[in-house]
Amino acid sequence: MFDKILIANRGEIALRVLRACRELGIQTVAVHSTADADAMHVKLADESVCIGPPAAKDSYLNIAAIVAACEITGAEAVHPGYGFLSENAKFAEILTEHSIKFIGPSAENIRTMGDKIEAKRTAKALGIPVVPGSEGGVSNLEDAKRVGKDIGYPVIIKATAGGGGRGMKVANNESELELAVSTAQSEAKAAFGNGEVYIEKYLQKPRHIEVQVLGDGQGSAVHLGERDCSLQRRHQKVWEEAHSPALNPEQRDAIGNRVAKAMANMSYEGVGTIEFLYEDGEFYFIEMNTRLQVEHPVTEMITGLDLVQEQIRVASGNKLNYKQSDIQFSGHAIECRINAENWQTFVPSPGKVDAVHFPGGLGVRIDSALYSGYRIPPYYDSLIGKLIVFGKTRTECLMRLRRSLSEFVIEGVDTTIPLFQRLLGEEDIINGHYDIHWLEKFLARTAQ
Ligand code: ADP
Repeated sequence: MFDKILIANRGEIALRVLRACRELGIQTVAVHSTADADAMHVKLADESVCIGPPAAKDSYLNIAAIVAACEITGAEAVHPGYGFLSENAKFAEILTEHSIKFIGPSAENIRTMGDKIEAKRTAKALGIPVVPGSEGGVSNLEDAKRVGKDIGYPVIIKATAGGGGRGMKVANNESELELAVSTAQSEAKAAFGNGEVYIEKYLQKPRHIEVQVLGDGQGSAVHLGERDCSLQRRHQKVWEEAHSPALNPEQRDAIGNRVAKAMANMSYEGVGTIEFLYEDGEFYFIEMNTRLQVEHPVTEMITGLDLVQEQIRVASGNKLNYKQSDIQFSGHAIECRINAENWQTFVPSPGKVDAVHFPGGLGVRIDSALYSGYRIPPYYDSLIGKLIVFGKTRTECLMRLRRSLSEFVIEGVDTTIPLFQRLLGEEDIINGHYDIHWLEKFLARTAQ
């Protein structure tokens, strides 16, 4: 086991990793930008190193500064959290060259799965069903038209290097294709420095269901069930739950076992998520995330496993000491992402938090780095916390969520808490009847 881990991240996830380390008796090193000198993860870590100015590209994405911080402090491993460098194969390679362990899969696995076309190809070869679409990238309008004819409209144009819901455009017919392809290409170029795009059948009423996997890189892998992340706005998740209200245990086992087998074949190390769209009883692979996800706590709540500790264990060379049949699911969990933004306009709301009161009690978990008097910097993601509730049944979970939201106080900045309070008044949410377009329609309705 490692003696000291450097956490290459900030906010709630840095704190989440720090807590796992502390329970394993591992020393922690926090890194931070000048804007985060007063952040909670810095206050709680055993040591901290300032790695640069506020802009992420000069601090949290500054590989040289992070490697130097490891060398100064003697950290043996780096936990990348999510976002920032967590899916950067080059970073994983550079750490390896410096004899520092990257807590996550091999650079090769990150690279394959990070390229969405390559990922789809690999998934298909491993026997995982994929969304119908172009075989590879499409570089010109003629190619795009051919694919459109083949798979039928509507289609969605997506960036090969995509992430965070950016660079996607829908075309409802051939005449919309030209503009959709060129806009997607230029957005992708601007956001990811790579303008390559591909085409998929646009599914009209799918759910987003993802399978959590854990592998030891030594041939064993298990699945930890699925999460339903269909409640999204602008292709970004706001509410996640486990299990999915749409699946029965047989469907869960079938897709889970298929995915776990594929991961074992890849000698996949660490946690990973295989994302699917699910429509009319069929699963369609869209992408894999080779890292810890924001929504991992709902899986922890229903399995009783600490996913970060599991990541650290396999990274330090341990084999999985359990089989699929040892994984037991119980109850239901829901996570609400609390963002510092206006819940209707999504305009970010950084600034001073005058007062904070977190809900508590049985089955309530808060993952947040917020404290009274904290000043939310304007430079980073607007996620300021996650409320995760557990119940023996989905109904109990919903009641507990309603109760928890009513206790939650964050003063001084706008948050998304009112959105969740409203969602709990919706019959479709109570019944679990929603797809990936439901929330956008609801928001359009409430804006009138
Ligand atoms: P990103 O990497 O940017 O998050 P994903 O491929 O994971 O992109 O897609 C994000 C979201 O976009 C999905 O959860 C879904 O809501 C929507 N989406 C992606 N592909 C399709 C598709 N083929 N049909 C309909 N919606 C899609």
